[in-house]
Amino acid sequence: MAATALDGAALAAKIRAGVRDEVAELGEIGLATVLVGDDPASQIYIRLKHRAADEAGIRAVDRRLPEETTEEELLEVVQELNADDSIDGILVQTPLPPQIEEARVMRALDPTKDVDGLHPFNAGQLFFGEPTMVPATPLGIMLLLQEHKIPVAGACAVVVGRSLIVGRPVAMLLLHENATVTICHSRTVDLARQTLEADILVVAVGQAGVVSADMVKAGAAVLDVGMNRTEAGLVGDVDPGAAEHAAFMTPVPGGVGPMTIAMLLGNAVRAARYRRGVLAFPHVRR
Ligand code: NAP
Repeated sequence: MAATALDGAALAAKIRAGVRDEVAELGEIGLATVLVGDDPASQIYIRLKHRAADEAGIRAVDRRLPEETTEEELLEVVQELNADDSIDGILVQTPLPPQIEEARVMRALDPTKDVDGLHPFNAGQLFFGEPTMVPATPLGIMLLLQEHKIPVAGACAVVVGRSLIVGRPVAMLLLHENATVTICHSRTVDLARQTLEADILVVAVGQAGVVSADMVKAGAAVLDVGMNRTEAGLVGDVDPGAAEHAAFMTPVPGGVGPMTIAMLLGNAVRAARYRRGVLAFPHVRR
């Protein structure tokens, strides 16, 4: 039987409607994005984020810097946005050009404005089981699982990819929900042996077809994070043929992508609530 599609577009629309109501209640919310250089994929992501923010009534500020920007220049922009009281959330789009050390930039962000959850304070909070500002994609994946009542506690969860923005934080969230978690990466020997154990399979690699249909266990829930532009259009990391025997699967596009944008807006609202004293602390669920 074919897998039930985990429709991220529909769930994201509900979340965005909720965000719109919260923005109306809170008053003006400012979300600043910083893009260095002209990477075409990053430009698309920034455009989508701005469009979604506009629709939700969030004031989005678009800071663009040239490819040759130095680390010091970018840090100055970050400091300026940290100090700007009209800005509740800051997102520095990655990847950054090679002359800039990403970790140093993330460390410079005000952690309470860090809507991508990449400041070491927020990453540490997640590690300690106190999720505060958590990257949007992992939050979206957990909400898709919850919405479809897919059991996480006790499940064998396999995450392919260990990036700071997707693989590691989603593995932590799954662990906190009591899954037994395996993290795979480019040095994993015999990837199929691991993925075939997965009740929940999250794939965030960036290579079309890195997980073939025969690497997916019958009855699994598959969350395909990959976004690969090919001649056939936008495709994920998992062969769509896996939907023939998986129980649940995210479509690409229309699965994890829309959830990421909705959860980013949610993070901006949480940051704004905290900064206005409405929330004692910007925990994810408190
Ligand atoms: P990333 O930083 O490039 O990380 C990729 C990860 O995949 C690395 O951990 C790498 O291992 C691992 N990997 C590479 N080749 C592998 C292989 N053959 N087998 C197993 N693991 C392998 O990527 P990312 O930022 O997490 O993004 C991953 C994908 O998700 C990209 O397509 C990106 O565009 C997409 N994405 C989508 C959304 C969304 O909203 N849908 C959001 C974010 C990202 P090593 O650590 O060993 O190098």
